[in-house]
Amino acid sequence: MLPLALLNRDPLLRILILTLACLLAACNRADAPVYHDQFFAFGTLIDLTFYDVDTLRAEQASRALEQAFMQMHNDWHAWQPGALQQMNEQLAEQGQASSDPAMAALIQEANRLSTLSNGLFNPLIGRLVALWGFHDDEPPQGPPPASDRIRKLVEQAPASADVQVDDLQISSRNPAVRYDLGAFAKGYAIDRGIEQLQMLGIEHAIINAGGDLRVSGRHGQRPWRIGIRDPRKTGVLASIELAGDESVFTSGDYERFYDYEGRRYHHIIDPRSGYPANATVSATVIHPIAATADAAATALFIAGPDAWPAIARQMGVEYVMLVDREGRIHMNPAMKARLTFESEPDTVILSEAL
Ligand code: ADP
Ligand code: MG
Repeated sequence: MLPLALLNRDPLLRILILTLACLLAACNRADAPVYHDQFFAFGTLIDLTFYDVDTLRAEQASRALEQAFMQMHNDWHAWQPGALQQMNEQLAEQGQASSDPAMAALIQEANRLSTLSNGLFNPLIGRLVALWGFHDDEPPQGPPPASDRIRKLVEQAPASADVQVDDLQISSRNPAVRYDLGAFAKGYAIDRGIEQLQMLGIEHAIINAGGDLRVSGRHGQRPWRIGIRDPRKTGVLASIELAGDESVFTSGDYERFYDYEGRRYHHIIDPRSGYPANATVSATVIHPIAATADAAATALFIAGPDAWPAIARQMGVEYVMLVDREGRIHMNPAMKARLTFESEPDTVILSEAL
């Protein structure tokens, strides 16, 4: 031990010692425990990472989260008995339904984002999703549905403007409204999960649902580092560093699809045509809120290589990357600055419009 008097007398020595102490503390923090756990919900593996939380507390939090995700999954599943299915039936039969506070907030937010996306993200097209067979856990095999049946559902045009949320009362003036939250509920649930962790005092965490994720805090002295999947090859297309409250969501045509007579039919439906949107193969969005990132990834996938900057601006999204059918990368400069590509992409088209 250095005598305190010496430390006080020699300011340089003091700074040196303090710096060393800080560095050591940093080393200790880098050794802080990293906790991992997984459970199944929303049709995918939910992967948890907590940094610097003791094991007992981490296990308790993980169990609590698993329970909450099970509950949200059951409540918000459009096609299995539960609160959302019941709401859908009441809206179709009576034009109104009573909901609970969590459901009312969820529906309101889904409607708000749908409006901001010009209806490209349209969680009210459940009937179309079901006609295509993408509502089921098992992916359909084809053939695609008859074109006149698709046309009929498109003409019924269920839209967010058809639905009114008044406190807990939800009413619809269009009997074709049927909520399917497949493009949204997972993101919304991840936000609720991060809130729950923060209430439990867990500040540094990732909730990752099959590659769609939200982080909070940091991995010790460094940010979290995550990979964005290559839509056409196994492996990572690019990696990115995240810190604080940030979410990364990707919508891709590889998640649920079937090939029929040489064409790919996948689960992201353009509400204007009733057919799978076919100009994009993947759309990636970074946004603080996971629900917004989820809805926006779906909307921008459908918007495609020309229209995405305008829709992104409307939805308040600042970072976007699209991969188009020809494998070209479309993004804005802010997104480019954050990505590290595994290998230099052949064609990058930068949009200054965002
Ligand atoms: P993933 O589920 O692969 O993450 P998305 O978030 O884009 O991909 O969600 C796709 C799901 O959303 C579909 O399986 C379907 O349930 C629903 N869906 C399809 N098209 C739309 C759309 N235009 N707007 C809102 N939801 C949609
Ligand atoms: Mg989505």
